[in-house]
Amino acid sequence: PLDTTIPDPALIVLIGAAGSGKSTWASTWPSTQVLELDQFRAMVSDDAGDQTATVSAAAVLHSVLEARLARKRTTVIDATNTEAHVRAGLLDVARSYGVPAVAFLVSTPADVCVQRQASRSPARAVPADVVRRQHAEAAAAAPHLHDEGFAHVLCADRTHRLELLLRRVSG
Ligand code: ATP
Ligand code: MG
Repeated sequence: PLDTTIPDPALIVLIGAAGSGKSTWASTWPSTQVLELDQFRAMVSDDAGDQTATVSAAAVLHSVLEARLARKRTTVIDATNTEAHVRAGLLDVARSYGVPAVAFLVSTPADVCVQRQASRSPARAVPADVVRRQHAEAAAAAPHLHDEGFAHVLCADRTHRLELLLRRVSG
């Protein structure tokens, strides 16, 4: 059966390559619930695409995440999250505050993710080989997300689009 469960509160971890549509999905949650890594990069460096700012940006993101989960506020992490160690860090925080974690896979085909980079500014475009690596990492991780510690594993699809849009309209 299709798992459409998103508990409240929850830590919702979006997982997908650059250009897969994570931020588009994230926009179906209230904006204050979404922590977008690009925004934290911009906050610490004035440049959302500056990869050298990632470690500092992730540290600030984590401290906001801790503050929110301490208050039991549903939080969405809008970042690629295709690397296991990145997810493990997020799962640790959720566990320590007793908040269930939900993996939300945005599994748009790799070719589409790559094509979408072409319409971005050069500063924001992610190289094709990086996009393909992220896509492969996400696909490889999918069967293991439950064992990693996610209480629910959801795949972005029309059912969720409809549900999330209805939630936005009614919420
Ligand atoms: P990044 O990791 O680089 O931030 P992302 O996963 O957040 O990427 P988005 O910015 O949400 O990706 O989407 C990439 C592009 O694809 C955007 O131009 C968006 O408008 C478009 N897009 C997203 N979802 C869809 C969809 N379901 N149908 C058509 N276009 C879409
Ligand atoms: Mg995005």
